[in-house]
Amino acid sequence: MSLTLDVFELSRTRGVVEGDMPLEDMPELASEVLGLEGGAVHFRIEGLGIVERLPAAALTIEAGVVMQCARCNEPVTVPVTRELTFRFTKTEEEANALPIDEEGEDEEVIVGSKKLSAAAWIQEEVILSLPAMPLHEDCEAEWEDDEEPAPEEEKPNPFAALAALKH
Ligand SMILES: [Zn+2]
Repeated sequence: MSLTLDVFELSRTRGVVEGDMPLEDMPELASEVLGLEGGAVHFRIEGLGIVERLPAAALTIEAGVVMQCARCNEPVTVPVTRELTFRFTKTEEEANALPIDEEGEDEEVIVGSKKLSAAAWIQEEVILSLPAMPLHEDCEAEWEDDEEPAPEEEKPNPFAALAALKH
């Protein structure tokens, strides 16, 4: 999907663009994951008009990202859902002139474009949202168990192990 967006126009008209971005259009993401559930990231982009003096849009992404489990190395599907508000400046200088504390956790200021690649934008946000350590639910539970000291009676008797070795 070679979708390009005029973010200023989208913001002004409060337009909505919604769809599924196929993984093959996001090669950097494709190199970091095993695959995507349904082969695509569902996205919704909504123009918000002017937010704190700048044109703004909300980006929502939803995907089932297939990654390699950090514990058992089998594929695990990790849900990635994110909603971010972007505010757009016209130039780099304008962005740099903004006070640093203008960006919140789910809020970003970027240099807008009349031809922003939706694939590149969505790809970047999915990559930033990937878990550092993907784990199956069961693997996560076992991982946590491993970290807790095992109760005394469950530890194998070292003398029994030694005895077994002598046979
Ligand atoms: Zn696992």
